[in-house]
Amino acid sequence: MKHHHRFDHSKFIVPANKSWKLAGHDPGDTNGIKDKNAAKDALQEDVERLAEVQNVLWAGAQYAVVVILQAMDAAGKDGTIKHVMSGMNPQGVEVHSFKAPTEEERLHHFLWRPARVTPARGRIALFNRSYYEEVLVVRVHPNYLDGQGLPGELREKGLKHIWKTRYDEINAFENWWASNNVIPIKIFLNVSREEQKARFLERLDDPQKNWKFNAGDIKERGHWNEYMEAYEDMLRATSTEKSPWYVIPADKKWFTRAAVADVIISRLTQLDLHYPKVKSEAQAELAEARKTLENE
Ligand code: ATP
Ligand code: MG
Repeated sequence: MKHHHRFDHSKFIVPANKSWKLAGHDPGDTNGIKDKNAAKDALQEDVERLAEVQNVLWAGAQYAVVVILQAMDAAGKDGTIKHVMSGMNPQGVEVHSFKAPTEEERLHHFLWRPARVTPARGRIALFNRSYYEEVLVVRVHPNYLDGQGLPGELREKGLKHIWKTRYDEINAFENWWASNNVIPIKIFLNVSREEQKARFLERLDDPQKNWKFNAGDIKERGHWNEYMEAYEDMLRATSTEKSPWYVIPADKKWFTRAAVADVIISRLTQLDLHYPKVKSEAQAELAEARKTLENE
């Protein structure tokens, strides 16, 4: 399957490299795309292509895909999901939102949640937040660990050790996925602090957006720098050659949507996707079926 890359994604990929810095990524970047209209055409084309590719993925039933979206509040996860999935066959896709864990989830290993919802071959799952929250929100609020019933030995070694252990476990988990043809596409929507403020204010000003406003989000915003540190550390530690992280600028919604669709389609077209070949016995069966229909 051919795909002509509209964007050069290379600058959005996080290299597996200790000195990489999030600050080098401009949330307002539009990667040379001039305006909303140019991005809209690109998105439309990619959405159509995604529908085609999904059909082959489904028919072939060889690969499963997990699109992971991580972001601060109001970065545009919901709108991105809505637009990017709009052309897909609902029977082959699923969205899993990783909200604050239930007691049952808390009292399991943190990779139990994604393991339970790993898509079957042929399917695409979209994770709206993910197990990465366990090294993000939990890192910013380490008291959340108190409710997790972790082994005393692990707790005694300290927080740094816990995050490092979790990064290693995530990498091992994703390697296990990869060797089973479960392909994660990991996307961080990089919104700026200023743009988040503007979007929160919009939610307060516009009665039709009031419902989106959540007072807790303002509290989390107060921890902005700690979140950015957690994100930077996590991105460095878990971006691998096989499963890289993409940092997608998120201050312009029209750019974010087009870029995410483009990253997904370009990753999918790297897979060896094809319709199953019908064997010769089955070919004879098809001919037989044709005859039956024609002789009705
Ligand atoms: P939206 O607000 O657009 O509906 P959302 O993803 O922000 O989407 P919320 O229900 O507002 O959904 O927030 C989910 C909250 O759950 C987030 O603050 C997130 O950090 C938190 N969360 C997710 N996973 C965990 C976890 N493992 N431990 C603790 N908190 C978590
Ligand atoms: Mg929220």
